[in-house]
Amino acid sequence: MPDRIEENLRAVRERVARACGRAGRDPSGVLLVAVTKTFPAPVVTRALELGIGDLGENRVQELRQKAEQVSLPVRWHLIGHLQSNKAGIAARICRMIQTVDSIPLAQKLSREAQTLGKELEVLIQVNIGGEKQKSGVEPSDAEGLARAIHHLPHLRPRGLMTIPPIADAERTRVYFRSARELRDRLGAEFSGMTELSMGMTDDYEIALEEGATILRLGRALFGERA
Ligand SMILES: *Cc1c(COP(=O)(O)O)cnc(C)c1O
Repeated sequence: MPDRIEENLRAVRERVARACGRAGRDPSGVLLVAVTKTFPAPVVTRALELGIGDLGENRVQELRQKAEQVSLPVRWHLIGHLQSNKAGIAARICRMIQTVDSIPLAQKLSREAQTLGKELEVLIQVNIGGEKQKSGVEPSDAEGLARAIHHLPHLRPRGLMTIPPIADAERTRVYFRSARELRDRLGAEFSGMTELSMGMTDDYEIALEEGATILRLGRALFGERA
């Protein structure tokens, strides 16, 4: 008997394939990050058993707890705001930090990665709608941050991450498109900046049509959060 998560995953994969079809894209170029925040360890384990290898958490505290509770190998992604004083923990656990939004944070992460003897993949979080309450750099500051990261020895800049303002589908599409254009410009200047992390449960098909390479999905896989 397939369980709920298995059924949800199959439905997501079908919708991903259809959206990629509409956009003339190969679905194998899309990474699915399952967002496990608030969901307990058995749910996390089930996702891993179903072959999802990349998981996202938005708080370092919860990330650390889950990383301890789960015994299967995981590629962890930090998808929430990171304070400098927690950079060491995040650097140790994560494959990728998706929320780098300042030069001091990037420098701290590079030092921590050096201590750990690892190379850390990072995305620059861009505040694509210029919202006051949201973290992320302004689009006009992304290039300066990309240049700084590029010169840090232990960070590998891989692209951009964004969370657009809550809006209707057409305006959401415009935000996604401008994130893609920014990624294209930075990608032309800095090697390896190919990823575009955008698209959550309510908007991932639009994100795919506009070029997302990393989806961050929670509710679509695991149901509503308590
Ligand atoms: C919670 C969260 C998600 C997943 O949201 P869903 O709507 O459950 O898919 C994606 N990205 C970030 C940054 C999040 O905090």
